Amino acid sequence: SEILVRVKDLKMHFPIRSGVFSRVVGAVKAVDGLTFDIAKGETLGLVGESGCGKTTAGRAILQLYRPTAGEVEFRGVDLAKRGPEDVRRARRHMQMIFQDPYASLNPQMRVGEIIARPLRVHGVARNAREERALVTELMQKVGLHPSVRDRYPHEFSGGQRQRIGIARALATSPDFIVCDEPISALDVSIQAQIVNLLERLREELGLTYLFIAHDLSMVRYISTRVGVMYLGKMMELTTSDELYERPLHPYTKALLSAIPIPDPPLERQRQRMLLEGDLPSPADPPAGCRFSSRCPMATDQCRAIEPEFREATGGHWVACHLV
Ligand code: SF4
Repeated sequence: SEILVRVKDLKMHFPIRSGVFSRVVGAVKAVDGLTFDIAKGETLGLVGESGCGKTTAGRAILQLYRPTAGEVEFRGVDLAKRGPEDVRRARRHMQMIFQDPYASLNPQMRVGEIIARPLRVHGVARNAREERALVTELMQKVGLHPSVRDRYPHEFSGGQRQRIGIARALATSPDFIVCDEPISALDVSIQAQIVNLLERLREELGLTYLFIAHDLSMVRYISTRVGVMYLGKMMELTTSDELYERPLHPYTKALLSAIPIPDPPLERQRQRMLLEGDLPSPADPPAGCRFSSRCPMATDQCRAIEPEFREATGGHWVACHLV
């Protein structure tokens, strides 16, 4: 299948400054060498604890941050090497849906204006009439009645606000959307509705998603493949079914064993693998394998040599010395 997004050795480091001369004394290596492809039409889930760099990775792919190093190819063009004008043009085809529908919508703008804004920025509508018609169409696409276009964001529920955010993201007819934890801030009863909407839109409009989430249960059914990140690096990447049925990396196993099983006998049989300790700082990651400070299987080799991210079996990538 056709590759839409190709990420190669992507790094996003933020300098740490200190003292009166604000000298650079170190770097937070939020993303520290990510390599993966996203095929056209697929949903790639990206999972990890908060602070693992998944949101930063999403933003660096969209060029909302300029990557420190590495390549981000979109439709065959390496954006990391292009100037602002090329990036602006590409951005029309790549959008983001934000985690917090409360914070990401300007409270002083009417819903119709919020959705119309990208149409204006990218010159999609030629006049006010066309703009109004497009806004109506976008609102209908996400299940909002066009009659509410003159209302303000605070007049809507969380789920409806996320629909507004989705309509705004769709305004420029993008091919690729980074969904940054789009359901984590919503009530459980609303989450399925938004997931179903995203799934329907993907099919209807031929969209490709990078779907960021902090736990594995959320991405299982929506993702074609899932990548697991830890401290700025990819630990494991494979198809959704393979990851849940045959996880290879100790960190993935730990994340999976944290998901409760609704069936009590099964739940009792299961061996839980608890993650001990806190996530180390991305400014000072452990030597060798980044997971070594919390991995129950860690050996001296793990603490000295960083495992390579390599293909263990067809399409199943993992970074662990024991695999
Ligand atoms: Fe654990 Fe070693 Fe594998 Fe890292 S390389 S996940 S420390 S076993």
